Amino acid sequence: MFAITLYIVLSFFFNKCNSQIKDKKMSDKHKDSSNVGNIFVPSYLKLKEKNELKKRGEELWERLKHCDLCPRNCGVNRIAGEKGTCKATATLQIASYGPHYGEEDELVGNGGSGTIFFTNCPLLCVFCINYDISQLGVGKNTEIDDLANMMLYLQKIGCHNINLVTPTHYLPHIILALDKAVDKGLRLPLVYNTSGYEKVEILKYLDGIVDIYLPDFKYGCNDLAGKFSIGAYDYFDVAQKAILEMHRQVGVAKPNPKTGIMERGLMIRHLVMPNNTSCSDKVIKWIAENLPKNTYVNIMSQYSPVFKAKNYPEINRRITYNEYHQVIEWAKQHNLTNIRVQGYYFVD
Ligand code: SF4
Repeated sequence: MFAITLYIVLSFFFNKCNSQIKDKKMSDKHKDSSNVGNIFVPSYLKLKEKNELKKRGEELWERLKHCDLCPRNCGVNRIAGEKGTCKATATLQIASYGPHYGEEDELVGNGGSGTIFFTNCPLLCVFCINYDISQLGVGKNTEIDDLANMMLYLQKIGCHNINLVTPTHYLPHIILALDKAVDKGLRLPLVYNTSGYEKVEILKYLDGIVDIYLPDFKYGCNDLAGKFSIGAYDYFDVAQKAILEMHRQVGVAKPNPKTGIMERGLMIRHLVMPNNTSCSDKVIKWIAENLPKNTYVNIMSQYSPVFKAKNYPEINRRITYNEYHQVIEWAKQHNLTNIRVQGYYFVD
């Protein structure tokens, strides 16, 4: 009888103990799974579940028949091989892909930003640093499956994001490739690295797909935009609306607090040009008056008079220390609190 009682008592304590261990394991497991909340989950996964990526990609593809993907609104049938201002047909062309360490620190980290450089560009800047790719057609014909594999390769080698450089005119291809890459495990944030010359109507297709917008805000005046980005006399008006839409979609740029790597948000670039031909004062004023004061603004100093810039005396030189410093001062006077100053390495 004593032995039976002892067995019952010991069993009770053993079971209780065991259940406490189990509870602890459960609670640890719960803790682990709640940590998943700190791991980056790209926005596009939700759209993938609803088959929305393919749907949007196909809708954009239809628009190639009367192309209106950018504010140039050429109306050409790119599927039939016609070319508009950007000179792109429906055949995807890519110049290069790989880890890039020259982008903003928050995009580069240790693994680099996974850049994919698309051939051609709708904006046609006479001073474009990548003019061979953007305007001289350097690049190779590429299948959509290959683009998906490039994204997966960049993820595999440790890049922190997929950085789509000048993507506007190949949006249908990009979204259809994304749809395929997600099936094979793509989970990196997409960086939409653009000239800022974008239609709001087209940007809405990217709502829930792009996590990081990286637009240039090139000019604060339309006349000079039209002169130096051939014919884009509506650039300032268009870019304002585009940047407001980007901000609506992703908000202020927020790096991961633990890693410092950017995961979501708007990162504006502004290239300071000689003789204030970029109308920097107006760009800075507009940002300060229309976006939160902690909007990320990278004030860039590396302007160089390449390509056709020599044909325009007012932009045929690098900027001076005073010119760059003046723009930094304007940003401070307007109480912008999240500016990146590149330093004066490039200025004369
Ligand atoms: S993407 Fe090219 S063809 Fe289409 S509207 Fe823009 S410039 Fe014209």
